[in-house]
Amino acid sequence: MIRSGTDFARYDFGGLAVLALRDGHVDMPPGRLRQEGNQPFGTQLPRQVRLVDGKLRLSVNTFLVIEQGRHILFDTGAGDAWEPSMGRLPRALAEAGIAREDIAAVACTHTHIDHVNGLVAPDGTDSFPNLEQLFVPQAEVALFDRSERLARFRQRCVPIGDGFAVSDRIVAIPAHGHSAGHTAFAVSDGAEQLLIWGDIVHVPSIQFACPEFTWEFDHDQAQARSTRARMLDRAARPDVFVAGAHLDFPGIGSVARGGDAYRFAPV
Ligand SMILES: [Zn+2]
Repeated sequence: MIRSGTDFARYDFGGLAVLALRDGHVDMPPGRLRQEGNQPFGTQLPRQVRLVDGKLRLSVNTFLVIEQGRHILFDTGAGDAWEPSMGRLPRALAEAGIAREDIAAVACTHTHIDHVNGLVAPDGTDSFPNLEQLFVPQAEVALFDRSERLARFRQRCVPIGDGFAVSDRIVAIPAHGHSAGHTAFAVSDGAEQLLIWGDIVHVPSIQFACPEFTWEFDHDQAQARSTRARMLDRAARPDVFVAGAHLDFPGIGSVARGGDAYRFAPV
């Protein structure tokens, strides 16, 4: 880390700059965590699960990659579309010294509320007035036809499939399951790789140790589970780092494997 504040942390990643930006957090009932068969745990919640006032607290993070002056934001936070505990992204950018006008491209891991609604500022204007391209997983572009709030971005949507190159060093990789089009992004610099993996993990206190546990809002529980297994396997290698939308802020670190379980080590 080279610089940090309350709502941002900036890292050097080879020739790129990577910033973690905090949009806020959302508290969820423990019943959202699911065991085999999509069953909530009830009173038998595994003891490692960390609760805040009886709730699961999910950090909501976004990430900015600056590649040769081009600013690409990965996910946008919730804006004012959900709980008031989110929507800090504009403040986080300001604190990091990044002008909203500098962001020319946004890439979405998927189109759930807390990932796309930050495209709109609380006053109803565009959060990123110079946005040119909005990379959206092909399977989820239709949201921009359906949503009144987001329709104005439809023309700028670039539908992306697996393997799509966002830039020379950033490629989309399939991570479907949490949503139909859920996509991760691999950012490469030489031998090092950063996996911006979206919602592969919702409850870091347990899903690294027990990756078979799913999340109520996983669109396809079985696919989400196998995708998490595959992504964790990919992440648990030297020179690979992950950046997760719901890992505890700043949400960047490395993954180590021990048998069927994994451990996350923040950078
Ligand atoms: Zn999410």
